Amino acid sequence: MGLTAARLLETLNRQWEKVEDRLNVSFEFFPPNSPEMADTLWQSVVKLAKFKPQFVSVTYGANRSTRDRTHAVIERLVQETDLTPVPHLTCIDASREEIADIVSRYRQLGVNHIVALRGDLPASATQTGGDFQYASDLVAFLRQQGVEKISVAAYPEVHPEARSARHDLDNLKRKVDAGATDIITQFFFDNCAFLRFRDRCRSAGIELPITPGILPVSNYRQVERFASGCGTRVPSWMGHLYEGLDDDPETRRLIGASLALEQVKLLINEGVADFHFYTLNRAELSYAICHALRLVGLPGRHAAPQLASV
Ligand SMILES: Cc1cc2nc3c(=O)[nH]c(=O)nc-3n(C[C@H](O)[C@H](O)[C@H](O)COP(=O)(O)OP(=O)(O)OC[C@H]3O[C@@H](n4cnc5c(N)ncnc54)[C@H](O)[C@@H]3O)c2cc1C
Repeated sequence: MGLTAARLLETLNRQWEKVEDRLNVSFEFFPPNSPEMADTLWQSVVKLAKFKPQFVSVTYGANRSTRDRTHAVIERLVQETDLTPVPHLTCIDASREEIADIVSRYRQLGVNHIVALRGDLPASATQTGGDFQYASDLVAFLRQQGVEKISVAAYPEVHPEARSARHDLDNLKRKVDAGATDIITQFFFDNCAFLRFRDRCRSAGIELPITPGILPVSNYRQVERFASGCGTRVPSWMGHLYEGLDDDPETRRLIGASLALEQVKLLINEGVADFHFYTLNRAELSYAICHALRLVGLPGRHAAPQLASV
């Protein structure tokens, strides 16, 4: 290793040691659709709870049965853990009355933080089919309904439907002006794209916290598909790292954890202290990363959950 690279590594590790007690993480899960997947989810929740996340969020699906499952997971998190559960909510097919009802049911559970999204439009649709066409409309309505914390999505590499990066940023500003309280990004692998995006947000007067979404990659083929659908660029060097590993999940996991840890350390060096992990309901990679960041047993966070039935 050359001296410059060695210095860079040393700087990264020193920088991270300086801030390790200020790091915050959150974990995203999706509602399971089989008893086996439910087991995986709840085991992951228990394992990752050790890192005292700021919150754990649960995605919201395109059809009604999935939506009820989001509520069920949030309900169980409230009842059986000390974690802070945060449901996602979308505008797809949603009437004002339905959203008001969902908010009121969450309020009864003591949940007052929601990730507000438009949701992906069904194939060939140009409208949401509901009372809200954009996430900014939903944010304004949630505000009216008295929701205290509203996170919104942002796209460092631009949302695929946006007319331009400028329009996309204007849209983010609309969500902020409508009452969003923080921003979570789509996953990305190019840290420069995130840093440029953060600069552009600040220049546009967007001062809310911007939490990078980190996707530790164990299934490269699947991530290529996700990425092409959401406008995230997968660098070619990354593909090379997973070459020849289609039948070797263990090595893929090791590479995925190591890459994501590197990404997180580089971002810490740029002043980032909050990270949102897309777990895909599997704890292993996020666990390895958070463990390596020494996020265990830090004071002032929640207690670990006790899930009787897991
Ligand atoms: C952190 C995170 C969590 C997510 N969770 C879920 C989930 O649980 N369930 C799910 O289905 N999807 C989820 N998604 C995906 C998301 O729903 C899609 O990316 C969706 O296509 C856009 O949602 P949005 O909230 O960003 O939409 P919006 O902010 O409404 O933007 C959608 C598009 O419309 C454009 N736009 C916005 N306002 C206007 C306007 N007034 N005029 C013209 N153009 C406009 C934007 O530039 C953008 O191209 C998530 C994404 C992220 C980053």
